[in-house]
Amino acid sequence: MRVLGIETSCDETGVAVYDTETGLRAHALYSQIALHAEYGGVVPELASRDHVRKLLPLIRQTLGEAGLDIADLDGVAYTAGPGLVGALMVGAAAGRALAWSLEVPAIGVHHMEGHLLAPLLEDPSLQPPFVALLVSGGHTQLVAVEAIGDYRLLGETLDDAAGEAFDKTAKLMGLPYPGGPELARLAESGRPGLFKFSRPMTDRPGLDFSFSGLKTQVLLAWQASDRSDQTRADIARGFEDAVVDTLAIKCERALKQSGARTLVIAGGVGANLRLRAKLQQMTGKLGGRACFPRPAFCTDNGAMIAFAGALRLQSGQQADATVTVAPRWDMASLPPV
Ligand code: ATP
Ligand code: MG
Ligand code: FE
Repeated sequence: MRVLGIETSCDETGVAVYDTETGLRAHALYSQIALHAEYGGVVPELASRDHVRKLLPLIRQTLGEAGLDIADLDGVAYTAGPGLVGALMVGAAAGRALAWSLEVPAIGVHHMEGHLLAPLLEDPSLQPPFVALLVSGGHTQLVAVEAIGDYRLLGETLDDAAGEAFDKTAKLMGLPYPGGPELARLAESGRPGLFKFSRPMTDRPGLDFSFSGLKTQVLLAWQASDRSDQTRADIARGFEDAVVDTLAIKCERALKQSGARTLVIAGGVGANLRLRAKLQQMTGKLGGRACFPRPAFCTDNGAMIAFAGALRLQSGQQADATVTVAPRWDMASLPPV
């Protein structure tokens, strides 16, 4: 079954074709970073308009790269939520209409299920049960995955998401939008241990997170510093170590609590090299393993949507003939696959 995947939940237009027999056929991504940079954050209306502008050319390009004609598609999957409502509507309307015209089934995919399943896309040996750490721009969650489609929330952030904390911290030290990856890059030349920030909520039981206080600690340290380039790098390193340690402590706790041996990491912050190394080390110590998507499939992309949609379409699920999106959508409410 060849499934076209469409991702338009935020500021990336992603398109891919996934073939349930041969795997990923092609994928393309258009990032709107330049468009939103001068505003220091995503402007929803501009995002929607840019998805309108880019989506069809990107679908044509992806089909071309896959060597497929549009009539070769057996199904269409689009992100139906959570995300920016206008941006979601663009992908859902295009995807639903395309499937209608081709007389193939369509399915609305949960964006976070897309992220969560991304590590399985290129590693078929990876199967539930496992614990998933979802760390993206809008979410920080630990999820017990008993089966695909069976998601139980173990803990989540009470305020900022990990990626959001990276972005906001970068911004307050004057780094350009979107600052997260830039802050991580800067941390590479920072010296460890010079700036020590707390590991929020690790001194009490539970699997919830809180990252907004860390941002304030960084602000105070930055304002009291000489604000040199080296200091900025040292602070970035201190911040990154605090986030990485905190995530690792909670992941270890979740694995021990659930008895699972496999940890799956997904979402944009999963591209962070120090986090990848730390979680590999931690799971190794426990005799388990940590599984990540390739860095390009940690952040938003069409491949994860094509893959997640293909699994559901294959099991016979499909959307009705309406364009429906859900800007807020609880993953635990998803039906089993
Ligand atoms: P959500 O998936 O929750 O709706 P989103 O789609 O905006 O949010 P993603 O695209 O999964 O989030 O990830 C983007 C986030 O990942 C940004 O906050 C960005 O700063 C962060 N990020 C990307 N690369 C890195 C990195 N190397 N280190 C730390 N953070 C990173
Ligand atoms: Mg993005
Ligand atoms: Fe995302």
